[in-house]
Amino acid sequence: SVKWARVKAILKEFEEKCETPIAKLRQVGDAMNVEMHAGLASEGGSKLKMLISYVDNLPTGDEEGLFYALDLGGTNFRVLRVHLGGKDKGVIGQEFAEVSIPPHLMTGSAEGLFDFIAAALAKFVASEPVEYHLPDGRQRELGFTFSFPVRQTSISSGSLIRWTKGFNIQDAVGEDVVGQLTKSMEKIGLDMRVAALVNDTIGTLAGGKFHNQDVIAAVILGTGTNAAYVERSDAIPKWQGLHPKSGEMVINTEWGNFGSTHLPLTEYDQALDAESLNPGEQIYEKLISGMYLGDIVRRVLLKLAEEADFFGDTVPPKLRVPFILRTPDMSTMHHDTSPDLKVVGNKLKDILEISNTSVKTRKVVVEICDIVAYRGARLAAGGILGILKKVGRDAVKTGDNSKSVVALDGGLFEHYSKFRTCLESTLHELLGDEASETVAVEHSNDGSGIGAALLAASHSEYL
Ligand code: ADP
Ligand code: MG
Repeated sequence: SVKWARVKAILKEFEEKCETPIAKLRQVGDAMNVEMHAGLASEGGSKLKMLISYVDNLPTGDEEGLFYALDLGGTNFRVLRVHLGGKDKGVIGQEFAEVSIPPHLMTGSAEGLFDFIAAALAKFVASEPVEYHLPDGRQRELGFTFSFPVRQTSISSGSLIRWTKGFNIQDAVGEDVVGQLTKSMEKIGLDMRVAALVNDTIGTLAGGKFHNQDVIAAVILGTGTNAAYVERSDAIPKWQGLHPKSGEMVINTEWGNFGSTHLPLTEYDQALDAESLNPGEQIYEKLISGMYLGDIVRRVLLKLAEEADFFGDTVPPKLRVPFILRTPDMSTMHHDTSPDLKVVGNKLKDILEISNTSVKTRKVVVEICDIVAYRGARLAAGGILGILKKVGRDAVKTGDNSKSVVALDGGLFEHYSKFRTCLESTLHELLGDEASETVAVEHSNDGSGIGAALLAASHSEYL
């Protein structure tokens, strides 16, 4: 039978190690701010890459015309057509198509992948309504969201640093992504120019800013986590080029790789990291993002099973399978409001093949979800505080009542409501009542798609 005293002790220790009191979150925010400075000072100066995006003009809301976007970052890619109405009219129309990439193309040749993408794009363009056709001599323009690490050389060019997420096409590494796509488009006579190459945080920032001019930063909380924000170009010592007219530059922080002694790491986090594909890297991301939260819960349950006979005298074998408990399932259990926690019982049975759990056992499972989700959400709020500090927006200045909005997107933020609520209330707590009046987080739906089209518009050759 269950050794409840041992269960209590393990839980208590886990809870204590995960604690994120406000004072600690302030230290996290301060450390994030310090790392941001260091990453801007010199190339390789910090774990935060602070990549220069070459986006020095965000959408004003006045953009108009027909633009295309391509969003590639996983096993599916999407093509979009966005019709912008100009001043105060916003997005008048949008259409998209989703295409899945055949697995053999994810590990084949660059030519194979880009030919496939160009062909899908051409097919989508062929469905363009006649009334949308551009005047003679004007090329269609495309914003390309490419969510892999890229060293940009201009707004519309950049070389691939490395593949992630199951892609491995060796002859594309180090090559200009836009050059390869352009070659494939030319081969089939598709008359289109890539006007902007961006990643998903930059797209979300652009999409957010289009809808609300007070947007100053964007945060992705999905499979992974990342953030981008608007920086003053004279606050970027490592920037060697001319200062843009706007005096601003969007920075892709790559904050998932943040690390600090102030982060509350437990034995479970250390084991998860050690067994991951990228040990020692993306430590902040491993505490916060959707790819990992469920697996932290699984690891705690496994310890309880091994050391306190939590699920009986044998350890349920499924509990040893990495990533078997996904964050959406964790979220479903966490939100179970039935008196006997029926949903939790069903999930334990369906996913882990553990049947006949008592209500007392199910309550412990929910408690673990609670600890893991709240720690992640509070640490994300600490990171946002760091960005607000970096741009001097964490406190009210007398005579300045301008607003600062952070655009958030990603499946974790969108669907895990306890995570989202906790993030919002923690940020309020960190800022205090007065500063909270001037700061807001806003869900920016599908920034990475529309945002790329908007950036194509604001970097158009014709506008
Ligand atoms: P990506 O980050 O890969 O571009 P999304 O922004 O759509 O994709 O986020 C997907 C991630 O969001 C999933 O990996 C999952 O971790 C998380 N997620 C999706 N649905 C839920 C949910 N219902 N509850 C909690 N997390 C979810
Ligand atoms: Mg995404």
